[in-house]
Amino acid sequence: MIKKALTIAGSDSGGGAGIQADLKTFQELEVFGMSALTAVTAQNTLGVHGVYPMTAEAVAKQIQAIGDDIGADALKTGMLFNAEIIQVVAENLQKFAWENVVVDPVMIAKGGAPLLLEEAVTALKKYLLPLAKVITPNIPEAEVLTGLVIRTIEDKKDAAKSLFNLGVKNIVIKGGHDDDTSESADLFFDGKEFYTFTSKRIPTKNTHGTGCTFSAALTAELAKGATVYDAVVTAKDFIQAAIEDQLEIGQGHGPTNHWA
Ligand code: PLP
Repeated sequence: MIKKALTIAGSDSGGGAGIQADLKTFQELEVFGMSALTAVTAQNTLGVHGVYPMTAEAVAKQIQAIGDDIGADALKTGMLFNAEIIQVVAENLQKFAWENVVVDPVMIAKGGAPLLLEEAVTALKKYLLPLAKVITPNIPEAEVLTGLVIRTIEDKKDAAKSLFNLGVKNIVIKGGHDDDTSESADLFFDGKEFYTFTSKRIPTKNTHGTGCTFSAALTAELAKGATVYDAVVTAKDFIQAAIEDQLEIGQGHGPTNHWA
């Protein structure tokens, strides 16, 4: 039977990030994709031109419609925008006892637009992180969540331990924002061991949606029954290929959609 994956995230009208990137990635990795929309963004490769959050009730109803009927083998959260949405997402993850939960703590778009209100960070830490099997922050997001400054691999390890202490079982701190211009090092911590995955940095402006695509690939692999370690390795390979395949679409930062 085909495995099912749910994304609880925002819409990117430009098709490069958000639920559009997630559903395309789910399809590529051969899982059945479903979505609960948290916000609509008016967006293209030049940036975010408007953010229109859904009501918390509308978010809850979408998740319940899926939970009551179809079910999900794994799910991810992306843009959640405010504390009310975070709270109903957390309540419903508990209601349906979903365990394969990937939290991509989306905060700010590359162009600077806020995708999570500052006052919602506390709710994210309090309600959602204890339910997460995996969290996939980039360096700025890990800094906001932990209050630490991250420059070195040792700093990443400290941040991963701090996130583990907030109740997250597995942590991936992505290296895309590393100072190193030749390589990017992702750190994976499963609560016991640290693993570093290094990849060649590809010089490109077309990196829109990399975070969404990575966490969606990880979610698809968990839905298919992969271990967290194997899911991280596959997701890393997938996003590396997607960045290499970057699309020249629009006038700004093009998307990293990937056809396997
Ligand atoms: N728009 C939405 C709806 C998103 O969920 C995200 C990232 O998670 C972005 C935009 C940000 O895209 P990027 O920073 O990769 O350009």
